[in-house]
Amino acid sequence: GVQVVTLGETMALVAATTTGAFTVGAPARISFGGAETNVAIGLSRLGHSAAWIGRLGADPLGFLVKDALRAEGIDVSRVRVDSDVATGLMLREHRTADRVRVSYYRRGLAGSRLTPADIDTELIQRAGLLHVSGITSALSESARAAVHTAVEAARSAGVLVSFDFNYRAALWSAREAAAEFESLVAQADIVFAGEEEAAMVVGEGSVDEVTKALVALGPRQVVLKRGGEGAYAVIDGETATSPALKVSLIDPVGAGDAFVAGYLSALLDDLGPAERLRRGNVCGAFAVSVSGDWEGLPRRSELATMDGTENVAR
Ligand code: ATP
Repeated sequence: GVQVVTLGETMALVAATTTGAFTVGAPARISFGGAETNVAIGLSRLGHSAAWIGRLGADPLGFLVKDALRAEGIDVSRVRVDSDVATGLMLREHRTADRVRVSYYRRGLAGSRLTPADIDTELIQRAGLLHVSGITSALSESARAAVHTAVEAARSAGVLVSFDFNYRAALWSAREAAAEFESLVAQADIVFAGEEEAAMVVGEGSVDEVTKALVALGPRQVVLKRGGEGAYAVIDGETATSPALKVSLIDPVGAGDAFVAGYLSALLDDLGPAERLRRGNVCGAFAVSVSGDWEGLPRRSELATMDGTENVAR
């Protein structure tokens, strides 16, 4: 068995390596990304065993994703590779020095074909933790049903459920998302949200008010990710905060997933609230100061390098 199971959509990525709109011959980097596999990679690098359930196309990009996840030590034995549908794709242009534009090619493609039959409930029930994000429920009816199959399997076996809102405005309306998020918050033990995401479910309020309003829906651990402000949480009834680390911002994408990986890693290590938030912030700091969604995620032996004040480690 594995310690952590996660599921969702992971897409290939073509990212421009120079500034400006895509043109013929423009240089680009091929990679991949998905919120849940970012979390799985983070956990795997920190020494935890993780499995990802999802669908890919039987095409060069699908094989690229599966091979890379396997290389990161993730259990991909439950990944289904479809021969009749393509792997999703993201194009990332550095449109100007300050503006990134991402175009998605995902509708109806492999990731959205996830169904309840893809969910290995026994794998989940033998694990310590299930992690889901709000993106999957937006992909299709069957993907939403798959999320609920996984969550119900975990709950019925007493396996911890972790839920990250990850609201994507391009995929569904705030109203539709809020109803689904409320249902998932109520079934989760650990919830991650940004301030605006939390307000979608519980209404506007101070950081403390929205956090406690989420706790009132059921989860014992609610963590607000606050970018450069770090994190604010109510854990087992106690408030905890932890400041972000001071680093140079290179690429903010993936910071939230890195934070989740760090937090869950510390939880799996039986560390207390302060250490969970701290490891989340350390992983977030690694993510924002390296380009790529997950490439900068630290290995366990590297965690301490962020604590040092020296710029060069020998
Ligand atoms: P994403 O863009 O991946 O969806 P998010 O909105 O879920 O991110 P953020 O709150 O932006 O998450 O960032 C997550 C964590 O990353 C923060 O809690 C913090 O630990 C770290 N982080 C983000 N921005 C910075 C920054 N400028 N400096 C240091 N750490 C940061």
